[in-house]
Amino acid sequence: MSDVSDTKLETFLAQAGSRWDEATGAVSMPVYRSSTFRHPGLGKSTGFDYSRTANPTRSVVEETLAWAEGGGDARASAFSSGLAAIDAVARLFGPGDRMVVTEDLYGGTFRLFEKLHKPYGLETVYVDTTDLGAVENALAHPRVRAVFLEVPSNPLLNVSDVRTIAGLAASRGALTIVDNTFLTFCRQRPMELGADLVIYSATKYLGGHDDLLGGVVISRRPELAEEIAFYQNAAGAILSPDEAWLLLRGLKTLPLRLAKQEANARVLAEWLAAHPRVSRTYYPGLPDHPGNGIFRDQASGDGGAMVAFEVADAARVPDILSGVRVFMFAESLGGVASLITFPSVQTHADIDPETRDRLGISNRLLRLSIGIEDAEDLRQDLERVLQ
Ligand code: PLP
Repeated sequence: MSDVSDTKLETFLAQAGSRWDEATGAVSMPVYRSSTFRHPGLGKSTGFDYSRTANPTRSVVEETLAWAEGGGDARASAFSSGLAAIDAVARLFGPGDRMVVTEDLYGGTFRLFEKLHKPYGLETVYVDTTDLGAVENALAHPRVRAVFLEVPSNPLLNVSDVRTIAGLAASRGALTIVDNTFLTFCRQRPMELGADLVIYSATKYLGGHDDLLGGVVISRRPELAEEIAFYQNAAGAILSPDEAWLLLRGLKTLPLRLAKQEANARVLAEWLAAHPRVSRTYYPGLPDHPGNGIFRDQASGDGGAMVAFEVADAARVPDILSGVRVFMFAESLGGVASLITFPSVQTHADIDPETRDRLGISNRLLRLSIGIEDAEDLRQDLERVLQ
């Protein structure tokens, strides 16, 4: 752990890994591309034996993320993707256990629960977790072991009340799990609101450059963190040393990137909300966004850097996607370059059409991941394709 762990987040992240290598003083954490490690003698270890279990480059990124999310008591395990991290969390539960899940959810998470875990007996019930009554009803079931929240949700940016839900879950002996991918610990701290486990797709803001896939699970509860680390080693879907290094590099600029991305997103969200060819804009920072009050209460900043909107005329969608010149038509989010996504056929294709329609993931909904470009370039790009 860096000896700047008593500093502000920006300072700590800027120097992540910079003080680890005592032998050479390298300020950039080396990539330990070694699968195994020599033992000094029988029964002796350097602390590293085999890279599936622990690798120095991965350990530094895990320690950095643990501290950034939860402080000195937290422990993190880094995985090969966000879904590998979520899979590890789902393995905490057994046949007959039930999980209450945000219904407006990343499609890959839905597919993981339904196609891979349901056949082994995990029960999932999808509810509108912005509706506390619905959460309470779902929690009344005797076998509920956890509530899984995506806050804000993907793609509609609904904001669930983590504090109240964590309280309700705890009173029933259930865990609260929060996918914090969209806001990161720079803007939202689910553990301080009562969450037991925090999950990330590190592919997104934490990495920030669309050049790695990764996932993280963080907990302050030693027994849960231990179980996740056990699963990480036993199943082996670990973050590679090279990707750990890229992630560490990305984390150094996360606060800066997010600030600029969010400032751009705010400008674009306000502009889209007033645009005659846009029928609805989703952005947690807009006063009329249904989750704006809870967002103000449990997060910081202006609303994050994700914006979704509905075009008034669905027939325009293909031309918008092929016409953009600054935005790129691609799935994923959180990188320095702005992306435009069509959730109903890309990220959320695995959710059945009726559910998608009911939730509002329609054929007129587009999702923007706002990057660090010039805001006016981004605005003009959208203006051109909307006209
Ligand atoms: N969680 C959220 C909110 C996501 O948006 C995604 C991917 O888009 C994931 C998890 C899955 O992460 P990965 O693609 O790194 O497996």
